[in-house]
Amino acid sequence: TATLYVVATPIGNVTDITLRALHLLALADVVACEDTRKTGALLQRFGLSKSTIAAHQHNEREVADKIVERLRAGQRVALVSDAGTPGVSDPGARIVDAVRAAGLNVVPLPGPSAAITALSASGLVNDRFHFVGFLPAKAKGRETALAPLTRETSTLVFYEAPHRIVDCVEALVAAFEPTRQVVFARELSKMFEEIHRCTLGEALAWVKADAHREKGEFVVLVEGAVAASDAEDIEAERVLQILLTECS
Ligand code: SAM
Repeated sequence: TATLYVVATPIGNVTDITLRALHLLALADVVACEDTRKTGALLQRFGLSKSTIAAHQHNEREVADKIVERLRAGQRVALVSDAGTPGVSDPGARIVDAVRAAGLNVVPLPGPSAAITALSASGLVNDRFHFVGFLPAKAKGRETALAPLTRETSTLVFYEAPHRIVDCVEALVAAFEPTRQVVFARELSKMFEEIHRCTLGEALAWVKADAHREKGEFVVLVEGAVAASDAEDIEAERVLQILLTECS
């Protein structure tokens, strides 16, 4: 039936594709993808030859109308991005919105996403997290984006492009206390996967210690702020200890 299937694809290791994704891609009349060459290579890897249409950030609105037309004509359309879950720091939301607005069906196929993969191996609090995604490219923009997050108690999740990792870490170091834990999840599911936990105070030295680090794809997780009530408890405990020492 005429349905838009939102299909998650691997973030590195191609064998992370799900059986359901393969089945659905095989059945799809057309695959809407961010980069037709990249997705073409993935499809080819699994022996699938499909008609594709480009659906990237520069044509999302126009292509949304085309997808609605195809769905109205009874086609099955699969939507994929270059890696991971479409719509998560990736094109997709406008297309889904247009399809829903047209009263048509949207079915998501769950699969890899770098944020969730990183969280699962971070050991940081992950029942509450705040997904920030990419910080702005300019220093001032990064500062403005980080300012309201300093009191956020959930774990903060950032995406970063390889060439900006140093700038990103510098901005985090300027914004948050150096004692906070930070986890770098680099090249997840790929050959040079690294998951490193340290304090924010140690973070810049770690990133700079190996030139390869400025090439990989990163998720950066930052421990949330200590909740105000916890901070008060810690302060009360500290004062009590001083008094007890003085009195003994
Ligand atoms: N839609 C994708 C998802 O669901 O995770 C995210 C796409 S976004 C354009 C690309 C960013 O995701 C990268 O810059 C990096 O921050 C993160 N990312 C993607 N693959 C990754 C990987 N294998 N290891 C670490 N981070 C990754």
